[in-house]
Amino acid sequence: MIRYRDTLNSADCCGCKACEQICAHQAISFRSDDEGFWYPFINETNCVHCGLCEKVCPMEEAEKMLLPQGKAYAFQLSDKEQLLNSSSGGVFFAISSSVLSENGIVYGAAFDGKIVKHKRVDCQADIIDLMGSKYVQSDIGNTYSQVKQDLKEGRKVFYAGTPCQIAGLKLFLRKEYDNLLTADLVCHGTPSPKILQDTISHIEDRLNARFKSYLFRDKRVGGWSCSSSSSSYEKNNKQTYLKYSKEMEAYFNAFISGHLMRMSCYHCPFARMERSGDITIADYWGVKKLHPEFPNISKGMSLFISNSSKGEELLTILSDNNFVREVELQQAAENNRNLLMTTPYTKERELSYKLFFNDYKGFLKKYYKGNYFKAKIKAHVIYFIRDNEWIFKVVSKLTHALKK
Ligand SMILES: Cc1cc2nc3c(=O)[nH]c(=O)nc-3n(C[C@H](O)[C@H](O)[C@H](O)COP(=O)(O)OP(=O)(O)OC[C@H]3O[C@@H](n4cnc5c(N)ncnc54)[C@H](O)[C@@H]3O)c2cc1C
Ligand code: SF4
Ligand code: SF4
Ligand code: SF4
Repeated sequence: MIRYRDTLNSADCCGCKACEQICAHQAISFRSDDEGFWYPFINETNCVHCGLCEKVCPMEEAEKMLLPQGKAYAFQLSDKEQLLNSSSGGVFFAISSSVLSENGIVYGAAFDGKIVKHKRVDCQADIIDLMGSKYVQSDIGNTYSQVKQDLKEGRKVFYAGTPCQIAGLKLFLRKEYDNLLTADLVCHGTPSPKILQDTISHIEDRLNARFKSYLFRDKRVGGWSCSSSSSSYEKNNKQTYLKYSKEMEAYFNAFISGHLMRMSCYHCPFARMERSGDITIADYWGVKKLHPEFPNISKGMSLFISNSSKGEELLTILSDNNFVREVELQQAAENNRNLLMTTPYTKERELSYKLFFNDYKGFLKKYYKGNYFKAKIKAHVIYFIRDNEWIFKVVSKLTHALKK
């Protein structure tokens, strides 16, 4: 039996839904708690106590799913337009394009209205929906079952997600498939879908306009940086493109501070160097300091870790045309702490949820740090500097010298 069934301890369930998909007796469904996180609910009448749900649970079986530490590489896509659409160096786009060119299928997270769900994509035009980090829990739905079907039909499948989602998929499949390639993300944790949904609704109310799209990391706003959200809205057929709104910034600051995560994220068994996916993808934070000789760093650089022979094979394809260099994994991890440890739990987390739902103005006051116009001007200056490589180099050298 899944541990959560006995303990009802929210830290015991990451919400991957593998148990629901494996249960042939439809004994498991999901219900959301007050914070908006979904948890399994067992219909005891339907349950035949077969124990399969426990066998596919990544929170139970994490240790078995970890691959030994792999080799690390810096990666940057040569396609400038798609690099701009990617959160870091575009490694996800490069792999997806290669898989689709072989008549394969790609699975990743996409917006569906104000919520994020995993989606199956079989053509290049739809890849854009999966691109970009969505800092919220993505609903896997029944994609594990869809993957199984695709694999059985001999299609090549590339599935990207958080490490717990990748472990859930592999446990659900219960056997190795040569035609499956998985990518896990270095993961800071995931806020609840309800928090994002309500954040967007607050902006809609303020603008009296209808939500169209949301980018957590828009390089057009703040270059390759962590905090550069934008979103767009429609009113009377007129589009509003919003940068640095107080609602989005507050959401982002609370997320980065680690105050909005699902409880399992503070006890995550996957926040370590051994990984669940054939490859691991992340931002290569700290690359400017470690490898100032790399070109175009300001445009975004991915960290790519190959954890299996499939990952190594992929590297040959990715090296064609794009920028790839082997780097020191330990050094890279020192600048990306979720490769080494979980996001720490603090009591602020409970306070943040209370503030958000009971005193939204108080939440904004706590997490919206900046003066809107100051932030906007700063964003334009940063973007201008990052967009001009030689100015970026001069400013980097000056900052370095001043720090010394
Ligand atoms: C919740 C979350 C936390 C992260 N934490 C870190 C971190 O601490 N350190 C770090 O270096 N990188 C982190 N990342 C990864 C980082 O944001 C970039 O996704 C990564 O650098 C890959 O960028 P890219 O340029 O290759 O492609 P992108 O085009 O940005 O690729 C995005 C990929 O992420 C998948 N994805 C997006 N949102 C979700 C989601 N909510 N759930 C599951 N999969 C999703 C997409 O399907 C796609 O495969 C995190 C990502 C997410 C979603
Ligand atoms: S024990 Fe078997 S029947 Fe019962 S919920 Fe789990 S998978 Fe379903
Ligand atoms: S972690 Fe996944 S498999 Fe385990 S109980 Fe939660 S939803 Fe089910
Ligand atoms: S931090 Fe761990 S439990 Fe939370 S979403 Fe990421 S991989 Fe899953």
